[in-house]
Amino acid sequence: MARIVFFGLGNMGRPMALNLQNAGHQLLGHDIVPSMRDAFVAAGGRLGDDEASSLADADFVFSMLPAGPHVRKLYEEMIIPHVSKNATLVDCSTIDVETSRLVAGLAADAGIVMMDAPVSGGTVGAEAGTLTFMVGGDDGGFAKAKPLLDIMGKNIIHAGGHGNGQAAKICNNMMLGIQMISVCEAFNLAESLGLDAQKLYDISSTASGQCWSLTTYCPTPGPVPTSPANRGYQPGFTAAMMRKDLGLAEQAATSSQVATPLGNQAAALYQMFCSAGGQDVDFSGMIRFLKSGQAAGDKQ
Ligand code: NAD
Repeated sequence: MARIVFFGLGNMGRPMALNLQNAGHQLLGHDIVPSMRDAFVAAGGRLGDDEASSLADADFVFSMLPAGPHVRKLYEEMIIPHVSKNATLVDCSTIDVETSRLVAGLAADAGIVMMDAPVSGGTVGAEAGTLTFMVGGDDGGFAKAKPLLDIMGKNIIHAGGHGNGQAAKICNNMMLGIQMISVCEAFNLAESLGLDAQKLYDISSTASGQCWSLTTYCPTPGPVPTSPANRGYQPGFTAAMMRKDLGLAEQAATSSQVATPLGNQAAALYQMFCSAGGQDVDFSGMIRFLKSGQAAGDKQ
């Protein structure tokens, strides 16, 4: 049984922390928002009293926070000054590679092991314990963290050194964002050419246009009954989250001077979609936005 402190009890962190606790570990949850703490307790979770005393006894510290500045502040002001030197730190938030490497360096300077381990699989995967973890950091830290990641996920991949988990997440989601737009454009064009959506799906899902955005998450209603297109584009994965991840890809491409023109264009389109009111709509709702400029989802 490990003593685990978990920071960030939001949509993802709450079910992840509960899975660790329900597997028999001694878990203490922390969140800065009272309603998040209440929801965690209502779901059976145990809260820590104050952060510093939770950290002093921790074997593992997980964090699942919105963005890089939140992670940096938490690490600089709370975790590194107060955590036990024997603890392993695991940040599961999706953040920029630069901040991820910076906090790993601060931890290393203090003699503490830190891993980045962003996830894919969304809230459904967090609840079911079937997330994919993309892990950056050294072999020893990976070996220590893996048994706990196995409880929360089903694919745990060591992507290399510090920040490489974030790099994998950003590159994957840049592919996804671009591919989704390409599938949306193709269905809109097919419609205007008098080609039935199901026919295009039947052909392209077994031809060279095949991709996840088509076969698992088809943005037009009908061909894939479980896709958000069949429930008024309720998320799923929101356009705002896709915009955030494409922004991280843009930032990484700029700082490493790599050309990602389609990634940049996809970021601009998702920004327009969000600015038109689509931030809480599933990202596959891009199909309707491209066709009509309509961003808001249907009410069910
Ligand atoms: P969320 O906003 O629901 O939860 C984040 C929580 O962190 C909030 O409850 C917030 O109060 C808390 N928090 C912020 N600063 C804190 C601090 N200093 N100490 C303690 N708690 C603090 O967000 P989410 O949907 O759970 O996403 C979390 C991360 O996971 C993000 O980086 C997101 O990009 C990533 N992610 C989300 C999904 C998804 O489908 N929601 C999928 C993959 C990855």
